[in-house]
Amino acid sequence: MQLSDIPRPAGHFIAGRHVPGDETIEVVSPSTGRPVGAIPVADAGIVDEAVAAARAALASSGWGGVAPRDRLRALHAWADLIEQEAETLALIEAVCSSRPAAQARSGDVPVTAEQIRFFAEFADKEGGALVPTSDAQHGFISDEPYGVVGAITPWNFPINMAGWKLGPALAAGNAVVLKPSEMTPWSTLYLAELSVRAGLTAGLVNVVLGDGPVTGTAITGHAGIDKVSFTGSTRAGAAIMENVARTGIKPMTLELGGKSPMVVFADADLDLAAACLDRGIMPNAGQFCVAGSRILVEESIAEELAARLAERFARYRPVDTLAEADGFSPIISGKQMARIDGIVRASAGQGAEVLCGGEAFDREGNYYRPTLLTGVTQDNPAVTEEIFGPVATFQTFATEDEAMALAAHATYGLAAGLFTRDLSRALRLSRRIEAGTVWINRYGRSRDHILPTGGWKASGLGKDLGREAYHASRRTKSVLIDL
Ligand code: NAD
Repeated sequence: MQLSDIPRPAGHFIAGRHVPGDETIEVVSPSTGRPVGAIPVADAGIVDEAVAAARAALASSGWGGVAPRDRLRALHAWADLIEQEAETLALIEAVCSSRPAAQARSGDVPVTAEQIRFFAEFADKEGGALVPTSDAQHGFISDEPYGVVGAITPWNFPINMAGWKLGPALAAGNAVVLKPSEMTPWSTLYLAELSVRAGLTAGLVNVVLGDGPVTGTAITGHAGIDKVSFTGSTRAGAAIMENVARTGIKPMTLELGGKSPMVVFADADLDLAAACLDRGIMPNAGQFCVAGSRILVEESIAEELAARLAERFARYRPVDTLAEADGFSPIISGKQMARIDGIVRASAGQGAEVLCGGEAFDREGNYYRPTLLTGVTQDNPAVTEEIFGPVATFQTFATEDEAMALAAHATYGLAAGLFTRDLSRALRLSRRIEAGTVWINRYGRSRDHILPTGGWKASGLGKDLGREAYHASRRTKSVLIDL
């Protein structure tokens, strides 16, 4: 498909209609570095309109009160339409994000439909509960939606992140005002359009475009937003907490940054470990929150594993995201490329050895070579900073205690990987690691959405996915009657 044939819906999407505005933010293809469109910035007035549309849709459709079975059916119909439109959605995703169309087609888009189906199934299966009563009293817990959820998503998996937010919020009976990243706006807009085509009442899904300081702040501080659900950097998460505290308390789910360790013991299956370490950092050029960016290896196998990884990393070939072929993702922006390169250089300046990579690919667009840094200490910037790029550090340890000391991060606690054939050790150490997810002899999520995801420490508050995400979209009320 020609670039000009790929839909890039204009304006915000409010109450089922596109609302145009002055297109002041340029959207750039990371594959070419060239502009591919522009978007308006929703100010407080536009956010007001979206919140009013969400309230009106809740009132007219009774979405929060309709038979749960009807919500389930409506969400499955939307997922059907997403699957039918998978090709278009994959191309829209590839126009401006780091996701190659081939991966969006086989992964991101079908996974988004699966997520919506997964949450739809909770609608008629989870509910309130009776509490012990006496002849004189009757009590129960009523389980109710919040009303309007304000959601804000990052650029790294735009359509999936929209699915994480929309699935549970809608299944639980809420309406949503969603702001995608200003760098990757269009797949979320198209998803919202499909919700209306699938029969959801216009206004249940509203998308406002814009940046964090103006549009994001207007959403998180809006009195008509009943809950905030955010995925993005720890820096923005902290700004959101401040804004929410200043403008009125409301519940928040925050999925934030990470700096996750992958720990390999000498008794691990080395073929498996090498493949998992590679898959643990290089998908999407390392631009995913749970990226295993700190590799920790027992001394006796370190040399061999480092050599194997360097060989694997050297095989990656960049691909234009709109090409037919699959390949290595671009870095989302020139600014982010410069930041990655800056950290790698600063790290080398402080004694790191660049075993492979350490520079951009020689081609148009933002492509950075898979990079492995050895000889780093715990205070090296490549170890302390979330790089969000194809860069892993490689450190060694002699004992379990040393491994655990290296694995602990002062700030983050998102995920961790353990590789060993000794299952007792794996389970014991999984309890010692401060992280929201621990993978044993694998690295990365599966397509089962039942396991909740979310960080400890400064990596976040609350969970996405799993039963937890559905329940986090509802609030309980205790009702007690004297008979
Ligand atoms: P970012 O924080 O810069 O932006 C994320 C979103 O927040 C964007 O839509 C942005 O416009 C908005 N935003 C920025 N400042 C804001 C503010 N003050 N108020 C309200 N909204 C604001 O993050 P990014 O660069 O888009 O994404 C990368 C980050 O996201 C990484 O730190 C990564 O670890 C994190 N992330 C976490 C998870 C998770 O599940 N924990 C998943 C994906 C990405």
